[in-house]
Amino acid sequence: MQLYRLVYYSEAADNLTVQDVKSISAKASIKNASLLISGGLLYCESKFLQVLEGGIRPVNKLFETILQDTRHKNVNLIHFSRVNKREFEGWDMSFVFFPTSRDFYPEYIKYSGDDSFDPLSLDGDVCVAFLRGLLERHKR
Ligand code: FAD
Repeated sequence: MQLYRLVYYSEAADNLTVQDVKSISAKASIKNASLLISGGLLYCESKFLQVLEGGIRPVNKLFETILQDTRHKNVNLIHFSRVNKREFEGWDMSFVFFPTSRDFYPEYIKYSGDDSFDPLSLDGDVCVAFLRGLLERHKR
């Protein structure tokens, strides 16, 4: 099956806690592994940036489910394309949490001229490189 990559940005629902997000991530990891979906999820300042990689049908179906989840809002698709290889191979759903974007300032300003964290100002490939870099250095 051809490999596809999807990147989106969203904002947490008002009442969502970090514990809730950790629970979403733990369950996601199990389901994604069963669907051969790899990826990463960043949560910072009530913002989500997620990359999903896998077959076209599983990725689309999962994104449809995620879109309907009321634990987040303002979901924006940043990127969807066919790719030759996984950038998150072996990471069924790696999760990183930072209370503030100042915590990843050095990584972020590599890709942005502005220090306020705004994933919508980044293109898909940059989101992937940024998230990969964060996961490699800060995976918890
Ligand atoms: P069910 O749990 O029965 O879900 C049925 C429907 O209810 C789905 O539309 C689901 O989104 C929604 N839902 C489930 N629990 C809640 C709740 N507590 N509050 C509100 N709505 C709810 N899941 C993954 O498997 N992989 C991921 O990579 C992934 N990433 C996510 C990223 C974010 C930012 C968020 C908010 C959720 C993510 N989820 C992910 C969770 C996903 O939305 C589903 O809850 C999960 O996949 C289980 O869905 P289901 O249809 O299999 O089962």
